[in-house]
Amino acid sequence: MADGKLVELVPAGAEPALQVPYDVFDASAHVVLPGLINTHHHFYQTLTRAFRPALNKALFPWLCALYPVWAELTPEMVHVSSKLALAELLLSGCTCAADHHYLFNNAIGDAIDIQVQAAQELGMRAVLTRGSMSLSQEDGGLPPKQVVQDPDEILEDSVRLIRAHHQPGDGAMIQIALAPCSPFSVTEELMKQTAQLARAQGVRLHTHLAETEDETQFCLEKFGARPLDYLERLNWIGPEVWLAHGIHFNEAEIARLGAAGMSITHCPSSNMYLSSGICRTLELEAAGVAVGLGVDGSASNDGSNLIQEVRQALLLQKLKYGAEQVDHQRAFNWATRGSARCLGRPDLGRIEVGAQADLALFKLDEPRFSGADDPLASLVICGAVKADRVMVGGKWRVINGIVEGLDMDKLMNDHSQAARSLRQAAAEISQGADAIRF
Ligand SMILES: [Zn+2]
Repeated sequence: MADGKLVELVPAGAEPALQVPYDVFDASAHVVLPGLINTHHHFYQTLTRAFRPALNKALFPWLCALYPVWAELTPEMVHVSSKLALAELLLSGCTCAADHHYLFNNAIGDAIDIQVQAAQELGMRAVLTRGSMSLSQEDGGLPPKQVVQDPDEILEDSVRLIRAHHQPGDGAMIQIALAPCSPFSVTEELMKQTAQLARAQGVRLHTHLAETEDETQFCLEKFGARPLDYLERLNWIGPEVWLAHGIHFNEAEIARLGAAGMSITHCPSSNMYLSSGICRTLELEAAGVAVGLGVDGSASNDGSNLIQEVRQALLLQKLKYGAEQVDHQRAFNWATRGSARCLGRPDLGRIEVGAQADLALFKLDEPRFSGADDPLASLVICGAVKADRVMVGGKWRVINGIVEGLDMDKLMNDHSQAARSLRQAAAEISQGADAIRF
C-alpha cells in the first residue's frame, strides 16, 4: 500500500515484490472485505428513530408525521446526527457513505458544510448531496412551507457547495452531488435546472424514485406520466444519475434504465418496514443497471448498519427470486462494486492493485459464528454486526471495534439529548395536535 492505494496483492506465504515502506498487520484472524459503500441515507433522521407518532405508517402519512418535527432542526443537531450516523456506518465496515440531506429551514442553511466537517472529523469518505424541496403543500406538494426553499437560493447554494467542497477524481474524500428530494416535493422547473447545473459542474444527480404505488399514482395524476417518464421529460436520464429505491418499474422502464447506464440504490430494510415493495434487482442488473445498497434514513430502518443491510438484501431477494438465484457474494457485490458504480467511483469497492486502500476486517470470534465453514458466507448468514478494523485510504479508522479518536459515549449522550430537544420543540409547536404524542 502507498499513497492510500493498494499497490500489490501478495499471495499467502510470499514476500512483497515491491520495495515500499510498510507496517505489517497480521490479518490471519480476519475476513478481509473491500470497504462497504452506502449509497442512500438521511443522517438527520437518526434523531427520529422509533419516533412514536410515525410508527406503523406507509410512506406518505409517515412523511407528513415527520416533516413538522424535522422543521425544528438546528445546526448542532445536524452535526451530532451526521457524526453518529457516520460512526455507526463506519463500525459496520462502511468506508464511504452518501447522504441525502434535503431539509433546510432558516437555521440550517449550512447543513452540508456541517456534514462535510463531521465526515472529516471521522476520516470517512462521503458523498454529500445538496438536496432540496420547493413544492409546499400550498402548491400541491407534500412538505409544509417552512421546510421548502426558493429555487434560486437552492441553485446558488449548490454552486457554492460544489466549489467549496467537491473533490473530483480518484481518491476523493469529499464529493458533492445534487439531489432534489422527490417528484412530490420539488417543482418541474427546479428538477430541470438541477440536472443542467449538475452536468455543467460535473457532479452526480440523485433522487428518490419509484418507491411506492402512491408515488406512481401521484405522478400520473399531477404530471400525466409515470415516474420514469416524468424524469425523462425533465432530462434526468443519464449515467450520472443514481436513484434510491427503484421498485415500481415495468419491463420497458428497466430496459431504458439499463440502456442509459443508470444506477439504483436498493434499500431492503426501509422497503420492508414501509411496505413499499421489492426492488427487481436481478432484472435491473440483467438490463445493465448498477445496483447498490443503502440503509436509507434512520426513521425508516432505523439503524445505519451496512453489513446488516447486506443480510437484509440477501434474505429479501432470496424470498423474491428463489434460494438458488441470489447468493451471499452477489449481495456483497451490491454493497461494494455496485455501490461504487452508483457513486461513479471505480477506485472504490474492490481489492485490486490501484484501488483505494479502503478495507473492512471482520473477526469470527463470536458465538454466532462458532462452527461456521465458509467465512464470507458466515458474515452474512450468521449475521455479523460489527467490523473489528476498518481502513480508509490506508489509515486505520476503527481498531479493535473502536472508532479512532472518538468519544462514543459523549457522542451518544449528545445525540440522545439532541433527539429529546427535537421532540420537545416539535411538541411545543404542535400543542394540542393529535398527530404528536409523547
Ligand atoms: Zn430516502
